[in-house]
Amino acid sequence: MIKFSKSYKNIHKIKQNYFDFNYEELTQIKKINKIYAKQKIRKNCKICSSKLKKSLMVSFGIPYIFCNNCNHLNGRYEDSKKFHEHLYSGKKNLNFGKLYLKNYNEIVKNIHHPKVKFLKQIIKKKINILDYGSGAGHFVKACLDQKINARGIEKNLQLHKFAKNKIYERALLEKEVNLEEIIEDYKIDCMSLIFVLEHLPDPHKIFKLFKKSRLKYLYISVPMASFSIFIENVFPRVYPRQLGGSHTHLFTKESLMYLKKKYKFKIIGEWWFGTDIVDLYRNIVVTNNILNPSNKNIFKKKFDNVFFDSIEKLQSIIDKKKLSSELHFIIKK
Ligand SMILES: [Zn+2]
Repeated sequence: MIKFSKSYKNIHKIKQNYFDFNYEELTQIKKINKIYAKQKIRKNCKICSSKLKKSLMVSFGIPYIFCNNCNHLNGRYEDSKKFHEHLYSGKKNLNFGKLYLKNYNEIVKNIHHPKVKFLKQIIKKKINILDYGSGAGHFVKACLDQKINARGIEKNLQLHKFAKNKIYERALLEKEVNLEEIIEDYKIDCMSLIFVLEHLPDPHKIFKLFKKSRLKYLYISVPMASFSIFIENVFPRVYPRQLGGSHTHLFTKESLMYLKKKYKFKIIGEWWFGTDIVDLYRNIVVTNNILNPSNKNIFKKKFDNVFFDSIEKLQSIIDKKKLSSELHFIIKK
């Protein structure tokens, strides 16, 4: 089953943060990029290990290269273990998290409930889910709301503590448990990785675990090397959501197909939707706010008149071509 697009009506309010906190977010990305630029040069593609050639562009100080073999988009540097520790272990990078924790119920309802619905449309049987990298437990909460037995495993202690208040004993801390034992003990059929795979030092580990464990399904959401990355590249004052910071590399249709072939799995459900056009809209509005602060309200009103209503329609063109900024897909052994 292939599904396209989704409505942004309920989501605009949540995403308002990207407008209001542009400066803070941009500063954070630049800081992370600076640390990333100090890592070793990446010689081989993160997905297929082919030798990387010439870079396509430099975005917020980081060169990016499309792999000639599998078309994966790679950042110029290695995302070393140390770099990952810096990103995910401490407290310091949770300032954006404050907002993500504040609108908890709204995020569960508008962002995670549709994901669970999609999952239920594809896998019609009763299943046990383990959400890997479950953060504050939003997806687990949405699963429980829809009567799916779910648990979440998270590496970051702060997020784990927060999740405990929401999903109680179903929140597991990664260093306190053994992933393989959890899968066995709780008879997990499906592991979900919602915007997690791109953050792992070695994404191959997940597919190797999938092959040898009792898991039957993986539900994966990843950001894609889409139209958004080209927009971001030419709006230097706007926070890049797609590429940069902790997103040091991005998937493409072709690099996912490479993984499919390598690990011999079947894709049983796909959902393509994106924020490419919302990103374009945001980049224009935010840039104007900075360049012409005194006229910002009039500008936005006029710009909304000519563009706002077309956002969803324009996005659906990109979604239908399977070129959107997000892909959610379910794989089966
Ligand atoms: Zn490659």
